[in-house]
Amino acid sequence: MVFMRMTLLKLTGLQVAAVVLLCSGLQLLAQTEMKKDTPKRVLVVSVTASFRHSAIPVGDRILEELAARSGAFILDYAQQPPGEMPAEPRKPADLKPDADQAAKDAHAVAMARYDEEMANFRSFQAARQMELKAALQKLSPENLKRYDAVIFNNTSGELPLPDKAAFLKWIEDGHGFVGIHAATDTFRGHKPLDPYIQMVGAEFASHGPQVEVEIINHEPAHPACRHLPKTLRVYEEIYLFNGFERDKVQCLLGLDKHPNTKQPGYYPIAWCKQYGKGRVFYTSLGHREDLWDPQWQQGKRMNAPVVAEAFQKHLLGGILWALGLEPSGTGPEKAGTGGQ
Ligand SMILES: [Zn+2]
Repeated sequence: MVFMRMTLLKLTGLQVAAVVLLCSGLQLLAQTEMKKDTPKRVLVVSVTASFRHSAIPVGDRILEELAARSGAFILDYAQQPPGEMPAEPRKPADLKPDADQAAKDAHAVAMARYDEEMANFRSFQAARQMELKAALQKLSPENLKRYDAVIFNNTSGELPLPDKAAFLKWIEDGHGFVGIHAATDTFRGHKPLDPYIQMVGAEFASHGPQVEVEIINHEPAHPACRHLPKTLRVYEEIYLFNGFERDKVQCLLGLDKHPNTKQPGYYPIAWCKQYGKGRVFYTSLGHREDLWDPQWQQGKRMNAPVVAEAFQKHLLGGILWALGLEPSGTGPEKAGTGGQ
């Protein structure tokens, strides 16, 4: 009897252990599943301090559609505050050396008016800068803790970021950055290159007229490229770059000739790279509305809906890669190696 009771106790002990193990295993599984199922948080920034692309609202909307379609991430936005900057007043032409008194008087009146307009312009500019600053508060070091990646959708100019160095450090520490089209027209024109531009991998230099190009897919296994054919014809404003170093990035899409003159040479279109522990994906596509939106009806379509769908998959693949949700598909991450 004593033996029986002991066996029973033993069995019960074993069973309890098994149940505990099973429970903790299930809990672990549930936690893993929850982690996998919890959507990542991505901040879309479409604030502009310089040129403002008309495709920005379309882009912001399409990004929302991509987030909903994938279910892998949810978006928050830092958008342009309402209102526009007035054009800078024009300085009156200098007086000619042989100007008579009437011309001198007229010039003095014009100069007085100009000085007044400039003072108004400057105070408006200062107020506008404060509005842009407020709109970019979501990029403060404290607020960035809420996000896994940031997308710069056609940003431009000298954005008054709360703390640019901290933002770059945040990417370096293992977060994602996605740059679209004019993201390389942001913090541009500094010598040496702005640290932001060094993070992206190049800066916009110039572009010719919009043109149809045949884009080469360098990395058919990469999530940003794997749905694309070997070559893809796209009608777009094609950027030329300063400071691009092919051996420092993984080239995803490019041209083997100048987009406009068709002279042979290498012209990058999209690339990705490691930045410290962070992941950076940039595509120079994203100027034209009909490239973003297969349904776009305003004006003549130059890109068939199927091309817009391909661009959307390119973007979505790039975002998922930058979030670390999709491997590069080329074995070990090819950080710092050139594309073929
Ligand atoms: Zn553009």
